[in-house]
Amino acid sequence: MLTVLIPEPKKLEVADLPKPQITQPDEVLVRVLAGGICGSDLHIYHGTNPLATYPRVIGHEFGGVVEEVGSAVSPERIGQRVAVDPVVACGQCYACKIGRHNVCSTLEVMGVHRDGGFGEYVVVPEKNLYTFSKEVDDTMLALVEPYSIGMQINARGQIGQGDKVLIMGSGPISICALQVAVSRGAQVMVTDVLPQRLERAKASGAARVVNVKEEDLEKAVMEFTDGEGMPVIIDTVCAVGTFEQAVRLSCPAGRIVVIGLNANPSAIAQSEITKKELTIVGSRLSRARFGEVIEALEAGKLKPELLRSHTYPAADIKRAIEQIENHPEEVCKVTLTF
Ligand SMILES: [Zn+2]
Ligand SMILES: [Zn+2]
Repeated sequence: MLTVLIPEPKKLEVADLPKPQITQPDEVLVRVLAGGICGSDLHIYHGTNPLATYPRVIGHEFGGVVEEVGSAVSPERIGQRVAVDPVVACGQCYACKIGRHNVCSTLEVMGVHRDGGFGEYVVVPEKNLYTFSKEVDDTMLALVEPYSIGMQINARGQIGQGDKVLIMGSGPISICALQVAVSRGAQVMVTDVLPQRLERAKASGAARVVNVKEEDLEKAVMEFTDGEGMPVIIDTVCAVGTFEQAVRLSCPAGRIVVIGLNANPSAIAQSEITKKELTIVGSRLSRARFGEVIEALEAGKLKPELLRSHTYPAADIKRAIEQIENHPEEVCKVTLTF
């Protein structure tokens, strides 16, 4: 079967590998229909994802149709079109026991720590499957995962009706977080340096966009918040400096959500956190958000047509990656068809 394989850092092959087999009673075989390319897939390819192991079949944003089931799975599953949550957790550690399996101490993510969904077939546990109640196109199955990241960010930032929110950066994760925040009634300001990306943010419901190459962000934040500072900040740029800036731009009692895997320390004084009593939280993967995302998509609360910008056949993944890396201004979420 056709598979996107990273045998070692900096090498990407469209390989012909044997079809995987069900080995556990609770597993199902999914014929993959669509996948989404994520920044972290590119980091695995370039050898800059500290969590990945090689060789690796990449892809953690994917969905398809169930073709075979293990002995403990109802045969009614066969033929179901499913989005697959890529997180596999132990169920035993502290985080798992309090329901936060997305930060399980022995966490494995399909496409990162174990083989993922960029192949014609993949075997996954049944409990990772989510279905829509109505017919949706194949691409939608692959968009549930990135939206689940946006849901998790909103939950971690406790974003609700009337909240003023700053999202730093306007890549695909920002667009997901933005659309979810808007659906919750928040007023959102979004930054970037690329005008086309800011246009997409506007179309996705941003109340104010700031090109930080041309405008002073601090001034814009103060205007947007009547001089108070920002109540909620989501840093999707994940640079040393943007985290520091987020702490400065927060209002007293503000909340900051970080999602980066940047290992370089930011210089943040304790006094800045204490004086404003800031809440700084990490947000990683997602925790049982797939159902919420599907509900929101079915209710028409999100705009997936603005999230997805390009689609390529999986065999052309190299062209898709060139598009992402050479024309970032044109690209949001790029999906693959299998
Ligand atoms: Zn992703
Ligand atoms: Zn665990």
